[in-house]
Formats: sequence, structure tokens, C-alpha cells
Amino acid sequence: MTEHYYQPDIECASREQIKKWQSERLVKQVRHVYEHVPYYRKMMEEKQVTPDDIQSVEDLHKLPFITKDDLRDAYPYGLLAKPLKDCVRIQSTSGTTGRRVVAFYTQHDLDLWDDCCARAIMAAGGTNEDVVHVCYGYGLFTGGPGLNGGSHKVGSLTLPMSSGNTDRQIQFMCDLGSTILCCTPSYAAYLGESINERGLKDQIKLKAGIFGAEAWTEEMRRDIEKSLGIKAYDIYGLTEISGPGVAFECSEQTGMHINEDHFIAEIIDPNTGEVLPEGEKGELVFTSITKEAFPLLRYRTRDICVLSREKCSCGRTHVKMSKPMGRSDDMLIVKGVNVFPSQIETVLLNKGYAANYQIIVDRVNNSDTIEVQVEMTPEMFSDSLGRMEEREKELVGALKAMLGIYAKVKLVAPKSIERSEGKAKRVVDKRHLY
Ligand SMILES: [Zn+2]
Repeated sequence: MTEHYYQPDIECASREQIKKWQSERLVKQVRHVYEHVPYYRKMMEEKQVTPDDIQSVEDLHKLPFITKDDLRDAYPYGLLAKPLKDCVRIQSTSGTTGRRVVAFYTQHDLDLWDDCCARAIMAAGGTNEDVVHVCYGYGLFTGGPGLNGGSHKVGSLTLPMSSGNTDRQIQFMCDLGSTILCCTPSYAAYLGESINERGLKDQIKLKAGIFGAEAWTEEMRRDIEKSLGIKAYDIYGLTEISGPGVAFECSEQTGMHINEDHFIAEIIDPNTGEVLPEGEKGELVFTSITKEAFPLLRYRTRDICVLSREKCSCGRTHVKMSKPMGRSDDMLIVKGVNVFPSQIETVLLNKGYAANYQIIVDRVNNSDTIEVQVEMTPEMFSDSLGRMEEREKELVGALKAMLGIYAKVKLVAPKSIERSEGKAKRVVDKRHLY
């Protein structure tokens, strides 16, 4: 199979070459922020580090970390490294966990972001013959604008659908022959369900999907691939670092290549901050070495994952990150035990349920309770008479094996859990209400 490389000289460069780029760019970036961002200068002074201490990528560990709290502290302009007159765009996080974070872009920053997303589309088999259907949200959210820019760079015909209006999404998909779908995995699953219900699967021409912005499991990937008849690719990014396209999956589908000419990745122990050797699980940290307006040094993402430099059959040499295994922000602590929604989802999909569920955490008599409401599939629902209890019991056992604690299970009728057109709301934690 011939694969289209967007920038093979960069994406397949030797380790030495990548290190050389990283070192040169890091040295320059550290000096730039030290001289232009008082917030950084202060952080570096507190750690007694000067730009002269950073001579290569090997010195990266000497720099202080920056966290989401710093971004909130410095809101809105405190980390800006270029005059506002040089900036052309602002994007923002959804702000679900507190004050919003705003990120700034020069034209150069937008170009490199588009490059990263273009690489992701090419890696999913995209060319200028494709019709790229983008139903990530547009606006302050980076999903829509990122994939849109990448698709233009590839030269694909771009459908800026944004999220919502599922009937129109499906109609355009059929009428205009969309071949690559970009959205959240939960919306892809919903589109698949809706297309099959309408009996329109024969009329869609989709071949691939690029799905990110929320956690999803391998089981969910298989479900989406089956229901839409496509190959489903993962993409990773975060507004703070630029947006989607920081890392993306290739045809091998065993982790996402990080665009190492723009971002340096480290894995640290989330408790001690110590850098961990390759292959160990820990918190992912990024340094953006080419961004001008909003460069972050050693940004703690809160995502738990593993890095791997094993040779990839696609030919790309950039390091691969595993799918995040959990986000310390998403992590629930129930009865003192760490629970990730992705663990619950794995159990449900393994037992033949779709990814339509909600987790309700509460506190009764000073003790935590967890209930998982799960939609039955229509087939289960029609033969459920007298078997509900049996099915619920089976799930309770499987969840206990996965989580180590008892979770109540409540099976509900198909379609009774609200569908999402953006990020699915999986968790309702009532404990903070008390
Ligand atoms: Zn690869």
C-alpha cells in the first residue's frame, strides 16, 4: 500500500535529526519566553534557572512545570509572548472545570496547527480527492477550526458542518459523498446508529473517521468501524498546546505519533514530578517549541499514558503516545478507590451494550454510592422479560471485577439516555451539592 506522506522529510526523520531540531528550538524558545513573559521569568527565577542553563533537550528537566492553575492565574494576557497586534486568533477551552483558558495564535501558529491536522488527515488516507465532513463544533472550541484548516492544507473538499442537526448531517453525507468524518467518538457512534436506523448505510461513502476530544475505548472503535463501515483513527490535542493534531494515529492504529518537530513530550510521575523512563505509565507533559504567541514549557496535561519509540510500520519515526488511560481530572474517587469512566465503558461494550450510559455518584449516610444507568440494545429490550435482573447481576459482577467496588446497575430502555452532539456527559456527581 502506498501511503501519502504529507512531510516525509520531517515525519520520517532520524532520531538524531529530531533531537537536533528539538534542542535548537527549545534553546531559542526558552530565551524568548524568559525575555518576553514576566510570569515565566519569575517561575524560572524561583527555580534558579536561567536561559543559559538550557543548552539542549537534555536540559529540559531543569525547567519548572506549568499547570492549568497557572493558566487560570495568568488569564487572560499573562502568558502572552507576542504583542497583541501580532496575534490573529483566540481559542478557548470549554471551561467545564473552572475558569476558561484562552490561547492566542499568530498567523505562523495557525499555519503550524493546520500542518499538524493535515498530517493527521493524510495519515488517515486523506488526499485532495476526499470530502472531509467536519462536525466538531466551530467557534471557540478548537475541534472544528483545527480539522477545517488541516483539510484545506491537504486540498480536500471541506464541509464545515459543525455539530448538531443530525438529519442534515446525514443528508449532506449522502448527497455530497463525504468520505472522511471528523467528530467526537460519541457523536460518531450516534451517527452510525441513526444511519443504520434509517436504512441509509448503503448510501454513505465514508471510508475513514478521525475522532477525538473525549475518551474512547478500543471496543467503541470496533463498534463505530462496524456501524459506519470505516476505519476509525484517534487524534489527540489540547487547546493549551494548540488544538487537535498534537498527535494522531497512522494506519497501524497502535498509538498516536506526536509531532515532535513542534512538541517535546515527557512522562512524569504525577506525584513527584520525576521524569520516567520510556515505556512507563505516567502523566504526559508537553513543551511547545515552535509556537510564538502562547508557548508553554513543560505543561502538565493531566493525561495518564505511555510513550513508545518502537519502530512503526508506517515509516514515521516520531514517538507514539498511547491513548490516554484516564485523566486525573475525570478520575472519580468513590469509596477511596480511583474510578475512570473509561473502565466502566470497557465493561459495558464487552458485554454487548452500546456506549450509552450515565454514571451517578452520590453520598448516602456518609458513604459513597455509584450507580451506572445503561441502555439496553433494542434486541435485549425485546427479549428482556424476566431477564432484566439476570442482566443487571451480570454487569454488577463484571464491574466489581474491573473496579474493585460494588456499583449498582440500572438497565433502561433504548434511547432513554440523552444523546450528545459534542462531548458526552457521562458523569453526574451529586456529592459536591452537599
Ligand atoms: Zn505509524
